[in-house]
Amino acid sequence: MSLTFAAQKDLTWSADETIAALHADPKFGEKFADHMAVATWTVDNGWHDDKIVDYGPIDVNPASAVLHYAQEIFEGLKAYRHADGSIWLFRPEANAARFANSARRLALPVLPEEDFVTSALQIAATDARWVPDAGESGEKTLYLRPFMIAHEDFLGVAPAKRVLYSLITSPVGAYFAGGVKPVRIWLETKSSRTAPGGTGEAKCGGNYATSLLAQEEAYAKGCSQVLFADATEHAWIEELGGMNIMAVSRDGELITPELSGTILHGVTRRSILDMAPDLGLKPVERRLGVAELLDGIRSGLFPEVFACGTAAVVTPIGSLVDESGETTVKEQTGEITLAIRNRLLDIQFGRAEDTRGWLR
Ligand code: PMP
Repeated sequence: MSLTFAAQKDLTWSADETIAALHADPKFGEKFADHMAVATWTVDNGWHDDKIVDYGPIDVNPASAVLHYAQEIFEGLKAYRHADGSIWLFRPEANAARFANSARRLALPVLPEEDFVTSALQIAATDARWVPDAGESGEKTLYLRPFMIAHEDFLGVAPAKRVLYSLITSPVGAYFAGGVKPVRIWLETKSSRTAPGGTGEAKCGGNYATSLLAQEEAYAKGCSQVLFADATEHAWIEELGGMNIMAVSRDGELITPELSGTILHGVTRRSILDMAPDLGLKPVERRLGVAELLDGIRSGLFPEVFACGTAAVVTPIGSLVDESGETTVKEQTGEITLAIRNRLLDIQFGRAEDTRGWLR
């Protein structure tokens, strides 16, 4: 039977002024809307006890398996308010499918995709007041963070027999403090985020924990994110710590690393590849060499390079920095990068026709 995630009767609400103040300058992931979806899974009873409750601490004992063995997965998607006030999710089925794949990889129970989508629709409806207007930056949204944790108090290394699913939300503005400006990216060719046969394709906390040290080092060098190469040869471009990467070639190709098993299947990546022909670009998914990318940037073969993901939408890469120095792509946001970014935001915010039926 499908879950309904019905709102509890006794929910409490923030004052309008509190929400308005947060919407004025939402910082990524700092404040959370009034409510959250929750559901429990047990070996004996499957998924049950699904509901919308007040946002608040969850009950996690020190022996809870997630704290010790990181059996955990999550997702990220956004609710967009259109000019007519209506609220829309962008391709939540794609996040639901990825969440199910992540669950399988982490030996967690699969939350049926329709139940995942129901939880997202229910929370967006319940906390509709928390979905900001797009605003001047044109990209304010309510970020949805579904997650699932092993919730059994047991120190044996085994898939948990009790699991908690929850979905919390947070109003967000532009991901990078500087807005749409080209960013400096550290090209990491020593440490890896994941490896063949590992969990790179899953959206699990461990992948992010392993990227933090490189990210700290990148910050110290004045870079805002890390671009990881493959773990075996350190010769092939994979993805950033929280975004996929694409290069625009002089001859109209939009090139992105193929899904090798070690990189995340980005919903933004897929959507941009799908709409590339609308913008006169030929989408190409293939292996992209580290040397090929750097040489291509220097020779002008790749005049634009950008990162893409739900949180940062499309972010131009201004330069790639590594041990040997800095390779500058462009000081300004490239025309094609901007066209792709605007096209995607226009669809998400209902300013362009949603010809592929991506909005729910
Ligand atoms: N790669 C990684 C490692 C990420 O964390 C994300 C963000 N989910 C992405 C790529 C982009 O994926 P999406 O477009 O689905 O947000």
